[in-house]
Amino acid sequence: MDCGGLFLFEKKVTNFKIENDLIKSVETADGNKYDGDAVILATGHSARDIFELLHRQQILIEAKPFALGVRIEHPQSLIDSIQYHCSIRDQHLPPASYGLVEQVAERGVFSFCMCPGGIIAPAATNPGELVVNGWSPSKRNNPYANSGMVVQVALDDAINYFKKTNPDSNELKNEKNPLLLMYFQSAIEQTCFKAGGGKLVAPAQRMVDFTNNKISPTLPSNSYLPGIHSTNLSEVLPTFIHKSLQEGFKAFGKKMPGYLTNDAVVVATESRTSSPVRIPRDANTFAHPQIKNLYPCGEGAGYAGGIVSAAMDGEKCALFCAQQFA
Ligand SMILES: Cc1cc2nc3c(=O)[nH]c(=O)nc-3n(C[C@H](O)[C@H](O)[C@H](O)COP(=O)(O)OP(=O)(O)OC[C@H]3O[C@@H](n4cnc5c(N)ncnc54)[C@H](O)[C@@H]3O)c2cc1C
Repeated sequence: MDCGGLFLFEKKVTNFKIENDLIKSVETADGNKYDGDAVILATGHSARDIFELLHRQQILIEAKPFALGVRIEHPQSLIDSIQYHCSIRDQHLPPASYGLVEQVAERGVFSFCMCPGGIIAPAATNPGELVVNGWSPSKRNNPYANSGMVVQVALDDAINYFKKTNPDSNELKNEKNPLLLMYFQSAIEQTCFKAGGGKLVAPAQRMVDFTNNKISPTLPSNSYLPGIHSTNLSEVLPTFIHKSLQEGFKAFGKKMPGYLTNDAVVVATESRTSSPVRIPRDANTFAHPQIKNLYPCGEGAGYAGGIVSAAMDGEKCALFCAQQFA
């Protein structure tokens, strides 16, 4: 504030006023208009309305490969015993974590955002969609260990998915649509919402049952508060994701003996790993190649993954922007 800054909370950007390839002002949902020399756009990887706005205004954006899969949860005591090679974790040791990666038919399958002593949480941003994520309280003292388990997704995967599931869909009318991967992400989230039966109940399967394609008669206790519903996840996830995860889990069971177990539960879907869209920018100036005073920033623009890298990207964007307009 002392340096001339003003923070406006609860303001939703709904439009950019563009003249001669420059954003002259930003409009918000309450009808206000804010003029300025430049715009740093850091609206995160779930701001689908912003991606649609950019596309509608013919501001260059690109489909960006991302990763989608499930969240898996084990008893923390099991992960401790595997990682520390002991039956009970010593009180001086922290709850154990892990990182797993496997190449399955030239496609990466990997653990993501592993949360020791953590909680699986609902993370959807639109009604009718189901997204799970994970977090750990500072004491990491929950009895569960959860992790994202995701598979790389490229543009062709989304095109093939829509060809198979809905060949007449609007999404397929233009295979070069930069929003295709975002539509794919949303379609899986909607399928998961329906499979859970609503109210953010998540479709789930025990881990060995998942690899054997067998419906689980019961599900273990777990940390996901809205509840889980026994489902054959092969009917929910795209086949290439389901099969890659099945093979990945078998490989992970060999790398970490005891990891592949029916005491673990697989919950769908972990879909917001990174942005399915990239907003391009010049590597030297950080400005958009077409709209010269637009600075795409952070995870939503495709330049960060996680809190620290997003913060650092914000700092860099602010510096480049200040240099340009000082
Ligand atoms: C449950 C959970 C746990 C996580 N745990 C970790 C972790 O342990 N470590 C880690 O590094 N990362 C973690 N992450 C990821 C981390 O939160 C993100 O990587 C990071 O916040 C991205 O920062 P960002 O500034 O690019 O976007 P965001 O933090 O998503 O910020 C974007 C902002 O833009 C606003 N916005 C969107 N659209 C508009 C609009 N039209 N008008 C105005 N404002 C708008 C949003 O409301 C939001 O405030 C976690 C994420 C979740 C959901």
